Amino acid sequence: MERLKGIGVSSGLAVGPALVAIQRTQVIRFPIAQDRVARELSALERARVRSHEQISQIRRRIAGLKGADLAAIFDAQLLLLDDPMVVGRAARIVMDERVNAEWAVQRAVDELAVVFNDVEDPYLRERKGDLHDVAGRLRMNMRGENGGVRDLLHDLEQPCVLVADELTPSVVAQLDWTRIRGFATDAGSRTYHTAILARSLGVPAVVGLHDVSKRIPSGAWLIIDGDTGDITIDPPTSVREEAENRARRSRLEPTPPRAGEGPTETRDGVRIHLQANIERSDDVPAALASGAEGIGLYRSEFLLVGGPPNMAGEDEQYEVYKQVVEGMAPRPVTIRTFDIDERQLARPLVDAALDARWFPEHERVGHAGLRGIRFGLAQPAIFKTQLRALMRAAAHGSLRILFPFVSSVHEVRAARVLIAEVRADLEARGIPVGKPAVGIMIEVPSAAFTASLLAREVDFFTIGTNDLIQYTLAVDRTDERVSDRYEPLHPAVLRLLRQVRRGAMREGIPVAVCGEMASDPLLLRLLIGCGLTEFSMTPGALPMARRVIQDTSAGEMARIAARVLTLGTVDDIEQFLLESFAKSGERNEVKTR
Ligand code: PEP
Ligand code: MG
Repeated sequence: MERLKGIGVSSGLAVGPALVAIQRTQVIRFPIAQDRVARELSALERARVRSHEQISQIRRRIAGLKGADLAAIFDAQLLLLDDPMVVGRAARIVMDERVNAEWAVQRAVDELAVVFNDVEDPYLRERKGDLHDVAGRLRMNMRGENGGVRDLLHDLEQPCVLVADELTPSVVAQLDWTRIRGFATDAGSRTYHTAILARSLGVPAVVGLHDVSKRIPSGAWLIIDGDTGDITIDPPTSVREEAENRARRSRLEPTPPRAGEGPTETRDGVRIHLQANIERSDDVPAALASGAEGIGLYRSEFLLVGGPPNMAGEDEQYEVYKQVVEGMAPRPVTIRTFDIDERQLARPLVDAALDARWFPEHERVGHAGLRGIRFGLAQPAIFKTQLRALMRAAAHGSLRILFPFVSSVHEVRAARVLIAEVRADLEARGIPVGKPAVGIMIEVPSAAFTASLLAREVDFFTIGTNDLIQYTLAVDRTDERVSDRYEPLHPAVLRLLRQVRRGAMREGIPVAVCGEMASDPLLLRLLIGCGLTEFSMTPGALPMARRVIQDTSAGEMARIAARVLTLGTVDDIEQFLLESFAKSGERNEVKTR
């Protein structure tokens, strides 16, 4: 038996044999049953034939447009495709190791890439890019055929625990969680989207384990504790059975979140608004059951992950937004426009929706490129499709539009021009539209510093502490190697929060906090002390937040916050907060950080 300690990011206990997944290429390695080998081999062969047709077609098109020289690139790809070191070697791996073909292709290509690395000839070395291109195409064609991971999971004899170096949100969104009890990953942190999604799906998860995917062999028994962050490898039978019983009991009797009992107030009568963050329209019942007063953040980009192929279309989006608005009525719903990244543009959004490589490793959400509103403005066709769907859905209830990743007044004005165009277009066609309030996420330091200027341009602010902290402190929120530097209590973060609130107050617009910071009891109190009164968090955290708020005196917290803002280090701040709470006798809920 061995124990490892990670960061528990999604509550619950999971017990089962390990299934090790390699995220580097989003290829999962599955042991397959003997009678599946033939199926995998024919899928591999059909993918080869299909890839051949596709590459030949591309070659013809390029030859017609640009001439034979350029088309020769694709001759090289065709040669690679037919090279026995690629498909032939992959077939051998499937047979010898009884693993899925997608993984086998990746293995074969990795082996060959090493050979290319050692070649002196620069021309040949450059062919490595083609090799990866060919491998990607083969895998894509296989995925279309066998349904990929989802299909393979059906062949597992019993539910497993997924172990990966990194799991992307798109993979998490697509997996069949009746076949997987929970997951453990090398990478990740509490605010990574994968962790957020795991909480919303109720899947126990431990992340930030550094090298767990290398240490655990496929098939080893595991216990994952999403509350404590503990992983037990190969537990003795008695420990395993006891954990299995506990896990089964909690699956059978999920503790329903307590519904809210009227408006939430602090001990000294300050009204606090509590809303829910959701990632899927299916989360609406959980939000209602937890007593949410509305949806403070609907991360609409999750629509593009694992949904039907036409999810990015205006009508499909409109139906989903309308369903959420009507489901929450009369409560307000804040829908954030797609917080996606430029590099997903390489493929049409529709393909991206189905592609498990939607968030490749090097394109983590922390990426500071053409993301959020920048992406929208760079791609007005996609942006306006979403805006049209939102404007139409706004006719059915209280909908607010929220722009992510704003860093300047200029961007807000440009986005508002597009809203005006969309409105005029819909009205000219006689289509009913609503008048949604328009707000922005404050999650980039430049936006926080210019809050008072931005407040003149919009109807509301929502502070995204997850990103605000990572950009202020220059700490990638998905990188476990620096996770100890990700400090919500850093004086710079607290000063920025104060500045944002002041900016909003000056222009009289409301300001909410929707980052994970608000679902930590200690930090929630401090935020209240900083004068913040609107919070949005995962539905599961709302009952805790309600209890904490009812136990907190806003006046006393304001005095504590004023003192905190004079302290220079995180340690001093944390110690001062804990001492102050101990003195005031306030209930000390378990810290979730
Ligand atoms: C945030 O940045 O705090 C936020 C809520 O947005 P996301 O976690 O989706 O980046
Ligand atoms: Mg964010």
